[in-house]
Amino acid sequence: MSRIVMKFGGTSVGSVERINHVAEIVRSEVEAKNQVVVVLSAMAGETDRLVNLTKDLSKDFPTSEYDVVISSGEQVSIGALSGLLNSSGIKSQSLLGWQVPIVTSSDHKSARIEAISSEVILKLFDENNVVIIPGFQGISADGRITTLGRGGSDTSAVAIAAAIDADFCDIYTDVDGVYTTDPNKVPNAKRLDKISYEEMLEMASLGAKVLQTRSVETAMNNDVVLRVLSSFSDVGKKKKGTLVCSEDSISDKKIVTGVAASTNDAKLTLTGIKDKPGVAAEILGTLAENNINVDMIVQNISNDRKTTDLTYTVPNDEVDNAKELMDKLSNNLSYESLIVDSNIAKISIVGVGMRSNAGVASQMFDVLSKNNINIDVISTSEIKISVLINKDLTEKALNTLHEHFELGNTN
Ligand code: ASP
Ligand code: MG
Repeated sequence: MSRIVMKFGGTSVGSVERINHVAEIVRSEVEAKNQVVVVLSAMAGETDRLVNLTKDLSKDFPTSEYDVVISSGEQVSIGALSGLLNSSGIKSQSLLGWQVPIVTSSDHKSARIEAISSEVILKLFDENNVVIIPGFQGISADGRITTLGRGGSDTSAVAIAAAIDADFCDIYTDVDGVYTTDPNKVPNAKRLDKISYEEMLEMASLGAKVLQTRSVETAMNNDVVLRVLSSFSDVGKKKKGTLVCSEDSISDKKIVTGVAASTNDAKLTLTGIKDKPGVAAEILGTLAENNINVDMIVQNISNDRKTTDLTYTVPNDEVDNAKELMDKLSNNLSYESLIVDSNIAKISIVGVGMRSNAGVASQMFDVLSKNNINIDVISTSEIKISVLINKDLTEKALNTLHEHFELGNTN
C-alpha cells in the first residue's frame, strides 16, 4: 500500500468527460489499495473568468475579497469529483482549504503555506475515504480566505504530500512529462525519465509551465518525490512521465539536461550613469521597493571611471512601471538615456553536470555564433547559462543548441 497525492490541473477537469476520466484514474489507485488524496484545480478557464469578473466590477477590487471569488472555482471541481466518486461506489469526502486546515500567510493573491494539519485527512483515511482537497486556497491566521498565486495548486499538492508523508506526489497534466525543451518549438524534444529538483527549479522559473516554481522548491525542501504524468493516457497503462527527484537518484547524469526559452522579459539600459558607489543600489533598490522582479543585471566597467551603462531585465508587464520609476530617479541621478527593448528572448541551458565540466559556456557561445545569433547579455549560475538574444531567433537558437548537446530523440 502506498500513500499518494494526485493533483489534476484545469484541463484535466475541464469537462464532464474529463472529470469522469479522472474518476477512473482515482479508482485504479483505490483498487490497488492505495490511500489517496486528490488535489484539484478549477475547471480550465474558470479562474481567468473569475479574475475578469473582479476586474469588471472594480479596478480597486480588494485583494481579500478577490481571493474569496477566485478560489471558488476549485470548490466546484472538488465537490463535483467527490460527488461523482461516491455515486459510483468509491467512498470519498471533499475538504475545503480551511477545513483541512491549510494555514497560510495573510498575503492575499500570493500567500505562502505555513502549516498543514494532517489530522482530519488521516481520520478520513481511517474511514476508508478518498480525500479531495482544492488546490490554490488556504486560510490565514486571522481567518480569511487566501490564494497562493496563479498555478498554486501544484504547491498545495506538494505541501499536502509533505504533511501526510506521502510516498509520491503525482502531478497529472495535459503533457506526459518534462521535456528537454519546448516540443512546440523543437519537434525532436525528448521526454526526460528523471530530472533533479535543482534542474527542474531552473526549468520552471525559465518558463517550462508544467510545474509552478514554488512547488518544486517545496518538494526539494521536503524530499517529496514528484511524478509528472499525463491525465490523457489510458487508465491502467504503465505510467511513463517524468520523475522529479534528488540528484543522487539519477545515475546517467548528462552535462546539459535541457534548453529553455523565455520571451516574457524586456531589457532596460541606462546609459551614462555616474560610476560611483550607491548608484546601482539606488536603481535596483527602487525597483525592489516597488516589487518589480529584476532578473539579469549587467554593469560595464567604465573607460574613464566617470560614467558607465547598466542593463537589467524585468517582466514585460512591468516595463511601464519600471520606465516611470527611472524617470522619477532622473531628478537626483543623472543619466544620458533609457533604452527599452522588448524584442528579446532569454535562452538558457541547464544541467547539474555543468558543475564539474568546464567549457560548456564556450560551446554554447560557439554554436550561437556559427548560427549568426548575436548575444546581448550573459549570466550564469552553477548549473545554468543564460543569454539574451533577438526574439526572432528563438527557435533557431533552441533547435541548434538542442542538437549540439544531443538532447533529442535519436531516431
Ligand atoms: N486555478 C488556479 C489557476 O488557474 C490555480 C491552479 O490551477 O493551479 O491559477
Ligand atoms: Mg498548472
